[in-house]
Amino acid sequence: MISEAIHLDRRTGVITPSGHSSVRKLKDLAGLFFDEAARRGLDPETVVYQTYGCPGDLPGEQLLYGTTVLMPGDVGGEYFMTRGHFHTNPLRGELCLTLQGEGWLLLMDREGVTMRQKMSEGSLHDIPAHLAHRVVNTGDEPLIFFVSWMSDCGHDYETSQRLGFERIRNT
Ligand code: MN
Repeated sequence: MISEAIHLDRRTGVITPSGHSSVRKLKDLAGLFFDEAARRGLDPETVVYQTYGCPGDLPGEQLLYGTTVLMPGDVGGEYFMTRGHFHTNPLRGELCLTLQGEGWLLLMDREGVTMRQKMSEGSLHDIPAHLAHRVVNTGDEPLIFFVSWMSDCGHDYETSQRLGFERIRNT
């Protein structure tokens, strides 16, 4: 028996058939960028990033995946980026494969020490379980990447936002 393959369009990030998808606009990202006044001065409907999830929603531990399309742009000179998070489960890392665009993968430990890896088409990033991760688009086209993680990794957005990551500016 041959079952239908899932398709990932590497130029748009769209997964077909798709599962949960989400959109993050500037109005959803209060407090993320250093210059909050600059964020408020921009069109709140501006899309910063979109995610496309894998189809299916089965109970229990499972391997999940999805794509993120991170738009080019900046807020007061600070490049568009994802919120970033720690995993609460210390045994759950994540794989990230860049499909298109240019940027940085920022990694940070729980002391706030940040490292970064260059992202470009084909770059593959094996993210250790204990490091927070955030992606920054430093290019002038959408930065599209594929990620895969275990459903029981647990997401903590607050600790990484408090520690702050490294600020990546265009000046
Ligand atoms: Mn993650």
